[in-house]
Amino acid sequence: METTPAFEGLTCVDCEETFDPETATHRCPDCGGILDPTYDYAAIDVTREDFESRRFDSMWRYEELLPFTRESAVSMDEGATALVDCPKLADEMGVGRVLIKDEGRNPTGTFKDRGQTVAMTAAAQHGASDVALASAGNAGQSAAAYAGRAGIDSHVFLPSRAGFTNKAMVNVHGGDMTIVEGRIGDAGAAYADAMDDNDDWYSVKTFVTPYRHEGKKTMLYEVVEQLDWEVPDHVVYPTGGGVGLVGMHKAAEEFRDLGLTDNLPAMYAAQAEGCAPVVRAFQEGRDVHEPWDTPDTICGGIEIPDPGASPWILDALRESDGGAVATSDSAILDAAVLVAQHEGLEMGATCAAAASGASALADDGAFGPDDTVVIMNTGTGNKDADVVRSHLMSKGI
Ligand SMILES: *Cc1c(COP(=O)(O)O)cnc(C)c1O
Ligand SMILES: [Zn+2]
Repeated sequence: METTPAFEGLTCVDCEETFDPETATHRCPDCGGILDPTYDYAAIDVTREDFESRRFDSMWRYEELLPFTRESAVSMDEGATALVDCPKLADEMGVGRVLIKDEGRNPTGTFKDRGQTVAMTAAAQHGASDVALASAGNAGQSAAAYAGRAGIDSHVFLPSRAGFTNKAMVNVHGGDMTIVEGRIGDAGAAYADAMDDNDDWYSVKTFVTPYRHEGKKTMLYEVVEQLDWEVPDHVVYPTGGGVGLVGMHKAAEEFRDLGLTDNLPAMYAAQAEGCAPVVRAFQEGRDVHEPWDTPDTICGGIEIPDPGASPWILDALRESDGGAVATSDSAILDAAVLVAQHEGLEMGATCAAAASGASALADDGAFGPDDTVVIMNTGTGNKDADVVRSHLMSKGI
């Protein structure tokens, strides 16, 4: 494999054993825990100036802190997205500054591309002929795109409620798509059966591959650099499986430990009231979630009733002195409309949970009057134009 010099191996978050990435490809061979890429930080010698001297053209510009070399990556120059000042939102929320990290500007329109570029690079370097995953929609679309680029066949399992754009584009990218009646859990069960039947399929599913949260961590590196190395006070993230949240928390610790920054941003998980297992666990002071019985929200990307990495998510929220917030679908869609009308930016329904959650946190007094708040717009609004437009219709508009 073409790994970077400081990449040491994959460490299990449960048993803490470290494994060779050549042979350990997915979950912990000893205990089944999630594997996390680890580095010899003492061997990483990069300064702020080094990063600043590089073009802001791709997340792979943080190559030293990624497992694989930029040259070997299956990449479409994902990342390097804009961080847009939102002065009206800042006024409305009574804080110093609000910025939206606009991940809709990625190759397939969501930040899932940051995860797939690293996961697909690993798949290619392990010689995979076929990749597979279950997804609520965006990850499936992204995987089909990156698999096509890598010359690998993809098998994508989506629930019937996945959005039309996701389904259409899996076909367009040449993916083998299975639509399963129901929700993400049903798609996951069909995927698991298919994996049992096909020994040679390589999983690129959330937290099954060790590399998706690793790719998503680059969002935080970019935010800090875009703020001229000021760590934002608060980062609000629309949380499903929590991949991006744990990734960004890890990235914040890495920058701090490398001496590039001094502190960590407070991380917040925003969920929809119809499926909020992380919020409930946080509020009840629990270390792990309880599966949500009847998930029901228009925010498909965060309708994850049983997020397996919840202990890790909850740790990140508590270690960073952040929090968790759930708002209603109607408040979430209102937030998408408000951001579009006041700031021009287009947010998908799922992503607007972060905007809505940030407002609710502001109302609860979570932010100070001079604070900087970053809202993660994880995907483009135009994949959900019908959903947000229908919300207006429900109000007679
Ligand atoms: C997948 C997805 C999420 C949730 O991501 P996690 O990191 O799994 O919590 C949020 N927003 C959008 C648009 C998504 O596609
Ligand atoms: Zn283990």
